[in-house]
Amino acid sequence: MKNSMIIHPDELSEKWIDKLANAGIGAIGIHPCGGRNAFESLAELLKRMQTQSYRRLIDYAHTRGLEVEYELHAMGYLLGRKLFDTHPEYFRMNEKGERTKDYNLCVSNEEAMELVAENAVQLAKSLYGSTHNYYFWLDDGRDMRCNCPMCRDLSASDQQMMVLNRMLREIKKHIPDARMAYLAYVDSIVPPSMVEVDDGIFLEYAPFEKYTARNENAKELIAREREMIAPLLRTFNKEPKKVLEYWYDNSMLSGWKKPPKKFVPDKEAMLADIAEYRRIGFDCISTFACFLGKDYEELYGEADITDFADALKQY
Ligand SMILES: [Zn+2]
Repeated sequence: MKNSMIIHPDELSEKWIDKLANAGIGAIGIHPCGGRNAFESLAELLKRMQTQSYRRLIDYAHTRGLEVEYELHAMGYLLGRKLFDTHPEYFRMNEKGERTKDYNLCVSNEEAMELVAENAVQLAKSLYGSTHNYYFWLDDGRDMRCNCPMCRDLSASDQQMMVLNRMLREIKKHIPDARMAYLAYVDSIVPPSMVEVDDGIFLEYAPFEKYTARNENAKELIAREREMIAPLLRTFNKEPKKVLEYWYDNSMLSGWKKPPKKFVPDKEAMLADIAEYRRIGFDCISTFACFLGKDYEELYGEADITDFADALKQY
C-alpha cells in the first residue's frame, strides 16, 4: 500500500500524474464527491471510466509507476434507493422507528446484505486500473446507522464492520488478494466491539472532526477522535494502517463549492502530524487534494506539493 494524494475524477490530468510521479508519491486516489448525492457522482465516474480519454490517463499513470485507487462513499450506489418502493425492509430504521431510504441499510436484512455484496463484486471488477485495495465506504454523514430491533444494539462501527466483512468475503471469491478499508470517520471513529474484523480489512483513519467540528461538542469530538487512534491501531493490527488526511483538501477549505479558494497548506501542522502518525505506527499516509485542478491553476497557478513529498521522505 502506497502513500497517495486523492483528487476528483474531473481533475485527473497528465500534469497531476507527472507531479505525483516526479515527487515520488506512490499512488493516486480518485474520489467522486461525497455527501448526499455520492451515489450519483459514483455513477458518473463509472461512465467516465468507459471513455478512451479516462483510460488513457489511468494507463499513463501506470506507466509512470503510480498505483491507482478509488475511494468511494458507495452504499447509496450498492443498494439503489429505488428499491425502497418494493423493499423498505432493506433500508435502515431511523431514531423515530421509521424505515427510510436516506442513507445506508439494515444490516440484519439478509437479502439486502446479499445484494450489496453482489453489487460490490461488480463494482470492484469495474474499477479501471485499480489496485486490489477497495474503499467502499458507507454513506457520508452522522447518525446513519439502522435502529431496527435487530440492529439497535450494534454501533455504527459494528454495522460498518458487518457490511465490510460481507462484501470482502464475496469479492475474495473473484479477487483472492482483495483488501477493504474500514473508514474510521465521524461515528465510526470508535472501533467495532461486537463484530470480528476479518482478514484483509485495513484501517483508514480520517480525522474529519479536527477540521470541521464547530458545535458545542466540538472539543469532545476532536478529543475522542485522537483518543481512538490507539484502540483503532490495536483492533486493526493485521494489515497496513492508513491515514486519510485533509492537508491539501482545497474542497474543504472552499466549503465544497466552486470556484476554489486560494490554497496555502499549513506546513508546520502537516509536518508535526506526519511525524506523529509515523511514531505511533501508521504505515501509509494519504491526503485529499481536491479542488486543485485546472480551474484552480487558471485562477491561482499550480499548487505545490513538494512539502508533502519531502515530509514523507523525511519521516
Ligand atoms: Zn436493521
